[in-house]
Amino acid sequence: MNCFYHPSVPAVGVCKYCQRGLCPECAAVVDDVLACKGRHEDEVRQLEQLTARNLFQSRRAGSVYMRNATFYGLVGAAFAGFGLWQLKWLGLQAGLFIALGVFLLYAAIANYLEGRKYK
Ligand SMILES: [Zn+2]
Ligand SMILES: [Zn+2]
Repeated sequence: MNCFYHPSVPAVGVCKYCQRGLCPECAAVVDDVLACKGRHEDEVRQLEQLTARNLFQSRRAGSVYMRNATFYGLVGAAFAGFGLWQLKWLGLQAGLFIALGVFLLYAAIANYLEGRKYK
């Protein structure tokens, strides 16, 4: 591949924005990637900032899932424990607590698995 702007000069890389070949003279380095010098430097910088922001957001989403998992897990265990403890006296009503507890524990596991995807 040759430089898009100098067809006789071999390219050293491609612009991240327009994917055209660039020779050393036309290539500008923006945040460790190449851009057309004087043409797409700003665009590539924006692209890179967007990617960095997405990474940051998904990491934050991951920690939210983990926090939900902890919360659901604790509340679910409390409900299930209370239900088991009261089973003798409350009968069917205690069963509802246990069911709610199991549901919350299930939600905790689902959140935990979802949160792990972002690691
Ligand atoms: Zn060139
Ligand atoms: Zn370009």
